[in-house]
Amino acid sequence: MRSKSPLKKDDTHLFCCQNPDCSDYGKRGLGNLTVSGTSGSQGNRMLRCRSCGYRFSETRGTVLFNSKIDHDQAVSVMAHLSEGCGIRKTSRLTEVSLGTVARLSKKSGKHAQVAHDELVGFSPSD
Ligand SMILES: [Zn+2]
Repeated sequence: MRSKSPLKKDDTHLFCCQNPDCSDYGKRGLGNLTVSGTSGSQGNRMLRCRSCGYRFSETRGTVLFNSKIDHDQAVSVMAHLSEGCGIRKTSRLTEVSLGTVARLSKKSGKHAQVAHDELVGFSPSD
């Protein structure tokens, strides 16, 4: 099966071990991750940490984790939402069900909130 993953095969340096008990947890670019196969209907790659043996999907910890729709469709949904389209309008324009658009909106909002809190927390004060 051909992987539908939009990510390149040699980009494991962009990921980090997702096992909180691993000494390399959260550290990128260590060369400890290998691709160990694919998983799910979207053909997402499974990554394996050499340090602890933990296997996880490349989408773990992202809005796309456990998503059943095509990656490009999910990106299109989020692009429409970020441009101010409502849930119903986005659903019509992207031909994705209302429930799926609502779920992606909720998940992406939570991720954006976490990113905002981290980035603003480290911003220098005026
Ligand atoms: Zn690990």
